Amino acid sequence: MTSLRSLIFTAAILLASLACTRPQGPIPEKGVSFALNQYRKQHIDSIRYTIELDIPAGKTAKISGRETISFYIDALDSALVLDFNADASHLQEVRVGGEKVEYQFINEHIVLDAKHLSKGKNEVGIDFVAGDQSLNRSEDYLYTLFVPDRASTCFPLFDQPNLKASYQLTLKAPADWEAVSNGKLSARTVEKGRSVYKFGETKPISSYLFAFAAGKFFKETKVLDGREMTMYYRETDTVKVNRNRDEVFQLHAKSLAWLEQYTAIDYPFGKFDFVLLPSFQYGGMEHPGAVFYNEPALFLDENASVNRKMARASVIAHESAHMWFGDLVTMDWFNDVWLKEVFANFMAAKIVHPSFPEINHELRFLLAHYPNAYEVDRTAGTNPVLQQLGNLKNAGTLYGAIIYMKAPIVMWQLERRIGEEMMQESLREYLKTYSFGNARWDDLIGIIDKRTPQDIAAWSNVWVKTPGMPGYRVESGKLVQEKDSVSGRTWEQPLVLKAMPSGARNLIFPNSDGTGYGYFKMDTVAKAWFFENYGSTNAVWSDPVFKGAMLVNIWEGLLRGDGPAPEKLVRYTLNVLPKERNPLLVDYLLGNVQSSWWVFLNANQRALYQMQAEQLIWQLLNTTKDKGIQTSYFRAFKSLALTDDGWQKMHGLWTGKLKVEGLVLSEEDKISLAYELALKGKGDGKAVLNEQLGATKNPDRKARMQFVIPALSASEAERDAFFETLKKEENRGKEAWVLDALTYLHHPLRSQSALRYLRPSLDLLQEIQLTGDIFFPTRWLHNTFAGHSSPEAAAIAKTFLKEHPDYPYFLKNKILQATDLLDRSVKLADTYAQKEYSPALSQQ
Ligand SMILES: [Zn+2]
Repeated sequence: MTSLRSLIFTAAILLASLACTRPQGPIPEKGVSFALNQYRKQHIDSIRYTIELDIPAGKTAKISGRETISFYIDALDSALVLDFNADASHLQEVRVGGEKVEYQFINEHIVLDAKHLSKGKNEVGIDFVAGDQSLNRSEDYLYTLFVPDRASTCFPLFDQPNLKASYQLTLKAPADWEAVSNGKLSARTVEKGRSVYKFGETKPISSYLFAFAAGKFFKETKVLDGREMTMYYRETDTVKVNRNRDEVFQLHAKSLAWLEQYTAIDYPFGKFDFVLLPSFQYGGMEHPGAVFYNEPALFLDENASVNRKMARASVIAHESAHMWFGDLVTMDWFNDVWLKEVFANFMAAKIVHPSFPEINHELRFLLAHYPNAYEVDRTAGTNPVLQQLGNLKNAGTLYGAIIYMKAPIVMWQLERRIGEEMMQESLREYLKTYSFGNARWDDLIGIIDKRTPQDIAAWSNVWVKTPGMPGYRVESGKLVQEKDSVSGRTWEQPLVLKAMPSGARNLIFPNSDGTGYGYFKMDTVAKAWFFENYGSTNAVWSDPVFKGAMLVNIWEGLLRGDGPAPEKLVRYTLNVLPKERNPLLVDYLLGNVQSSWWVFLNANQRALYQMQAEQLIWQLLNTTKDKGIQTSYFRAFKSLALTDDGWQKMHGLWTGKLKVEGLVLSEEDKISLAYELALKGKGDGKAVLNEQLGATKNPDRKARMQFVIPALSASEAERDAFFETLKKEENRGKEAWVLDALTYLHHPLRSQSALRYLRPSLDLLQEIQLTGDIFFPTRWLHNTFAGHSSPEAAAIAKTFLKEHPDYPYFLKNKILQATDLLDRSVKLADTYAQKEYSPALSQQ
């Protein structure tokens, strides 16, 4: 997941890649363009790879490889393009039909003249040195992670998801290493003191799902319900392993059995193993027959919370669901990557939720998905769920809140629309029709459409293919859709509201079950009633989902200028916090207080509530018994405290002289306290920071602190000098460190002096996208702008976009997303100032 060069699908790129498919045509671009993908899909099939890799001990010695690619081709009007994203020196020999041939190596591709090929079956042999980039090598083990287009960093192949192939792998490895891959181990022999592992041929799978791991692993085999499974792991703490082992096997057996029943298709890939890796990049990766997991997520500590246990059951159910959704039936092109992720989560929820009745799953779903989806979908820079993707190497640009947060909401809506039974029948047909093949979202929509009189295609066009969110207002006791940004677009969804008589009138609470997606405008009286009666004996207060849904409505209303004013929301929230005991709701309330505080209140307004907020949160921090709630209050206190008294309390916690019952501070907590103390103290803060630096034991955390400290300096000149260093790529290597530093550099208390960093930060954005990880541009922008709320800051972003009318579409959207709250803050300062002085709206 490193560099992303070209950003959007421009006509020029399309033409260049079409041209490359001519025999003596010019150069194929780097990565797999959509045109190359289409051409190969059209003309090549029945692909089999036979691969042999010779893996030495240690993490640096070369891994030599040999492979044969056999395939059928039905057209010779173009050179054959194979993908190999490694240095030219890694390529040793290319043969066709056993004869050595000339080839070109251009832009990460091996290009073979069509004269070497014949229509029908061909066999290309290649000797190479495997690229290390996606092999995750350590001294005594390694593992692959090839999603989305990384298999070609290791060995030459057709690296695109719709060219499914069977793989036959042989690994030579040190004698005491284990090895595991998608195929079943068919033989293990010893040759010259080294182990030789031969794996049986796999079923047809996509290249991003091919995987292997080799190294020193413990392993354990169990048979459950007639299914044999082997677990490979590295954990040396046998007590920990023994405590978790049975449950990990059981959870797999249960998930697979549930999915076989739901889909009416037996587990499709024969053998099923899983590998636990100590610092795996994701929670899990769904390689068929060899699922990889992050070890700590499965081997839990003794006092693991219910949430941790549910997260474990969920990740196992998620990866198991992928065996059908993603592995058996795979997206045709990576723009549909959202679909497999949504299905895996959708199935995992069905599998896991009944085992955790103590958790309110509706409230959890509401607060985890809707506010985060709105955060992007309400901005001018939002995107639809289904996006364009011009080249596979840019697949990373597709990921974001719309895929992770909005798409799951849309999928639940689809099921509610057509019913659970039709959903299941449709999915069964979809899986059966496209088994071991590829399918698009529209293929599923087609299957559903013919079963129902409803126009599901029209529904999908609005929810999946267009961006944005609907708005609703209450009119004569009914919800009415506001005028939409796209004319004629109707957002069909079932909506409910709660009407409650109060004196002479009805109070109306729109979207009272929290399932509707959009902005639901509440009237001022209902909002005031909600806060004034919060937690009283009326039956509505026993429903946490109702409370969550109203709080989300109210926050969206604040952002749109419909009230309450931020200052009023802070006052309301401080009043209701002591009445709330639900950890999810407390956390959401505190989040809104902190956003109002730092983004929407000016220094004078904050001063009015400073003492009250600090004292209340301190008191609640000290009296709550719930660990989750206590953590939320600790974070909020740290963020808001600014008085001498607040500073002294933070200082006391930091030195350990002041204790809060039940609150255990980690080294990480102490460091963040030291940062706040330095930022908010009267002196230059150096003493606190140096003391913390000296006391920090973990070497990674110490190095991180050393990096961040200049960003906290009381001297503007020092902060300027630090910002200058960020312009050099080598100083941005540790992206998490940079993000920490940006938070303090642009802290609201210092935002005035940080204005001068905004323009250069925008100027750097394109370079950052080329040199950084896929999520870095978004996070760079977010942490840069999050501390700002001034008209000057908003104007800098606007001017930048005006001066770059042809700025890459995707990056422009990221800027619009990151500056949305800033723009609203500027606009709302006027709106609410006027309302406050308007007698007609004084109750606002
Ligand atoms: Zn997944």
